[in-house]
Amino acid sequence: MMNTVNSHLREWLNTGLGFFYPNVCQICQIGCATEREGYVCAECWKQVRFIRSPFCDRCGLPFQGDLTTKFECTNCRELELHFSSARSAVVAKTVVLEVIHRFKYSHALWFENFLADLLIREAAPALRSQHWDALVPVPLHPKKFREREFNQAEILARRLGAATNISVDTSLLQRVVPTLTQTFLSREQRASNMTNAFAAAAGSAVGKKFIIVDDVFTTGATTSACAKALRAAGAMEVAVWTVARGL
Ligand SMILES: [Zn+2]
Ligand SMILES: [Zn+2]
Repeated sequence: MMNTVNSHLREWLNTGLGFFYPNVCQICQIGCATEREGYVCAECWKQVRFIRSPFCDRCGLPFQGDLTTKFECTNCRELELHFSSARSAVVAKTVVLEVIHRFKYSHALWFENFLADLLIREAAPALRSQHWDALVPVPLHPKKFREREFNQAEILARRLGAATNISVDTSLLQRVVPTLTQTFLSREQRASNMTNAFAAAAGSAVGKKFIIVDDVFTTGATTSACAKALRAAGAMEVAVWTVARGL
């Protein structure tokens, strides 16, 4: 009985939401876009730039040219990175950057399908052919989580996990220091801001392989600090996938 009531209620709510969210692109407010499309229309979609080879083997930074040998960029040579490799689906510019900011800071959760789709398109085919023990979303500090009420990295990791059958682990890694926002910090400040920001229980990751999932990769300071904590807890390998990559 309760289930029937719930399903009727859900139906009613969905109809209601359809009323409040018409099928209009939430970027340009002109084109047609459905919930399934994450409310981004075909015209705005054309601004999305997928990251294609060649890119840095280590951090996924795309570059011009047709290098066929292994290549590590200056970003990687200057930083001590604790992950084996990082890849991102698209460039963090134009529509993608706007969607990520509104999703994260303005609770524009209707963009979830757009962001999840970008990540799944690029990451799922690569991950399905490899062996990974779990996806680990970059955790928020509990204080930040209470303010924001959701962790965008966890939402994206759960969608990628459902698409790849890789489990999502949100208890292994904790954010133990409420770090300052990284936005206005230099590369060096970002790295030191993140040092020891994360922790995993000793021995909790022994011999395992993890993918850290986040929305944006900028210098790699955050994901590298996560990788460092997982490696310290015994992880055999830690790699990174994000939706977008700052250039
Ligand atoms: Zn549009
Ligand atoms: Zn690099």
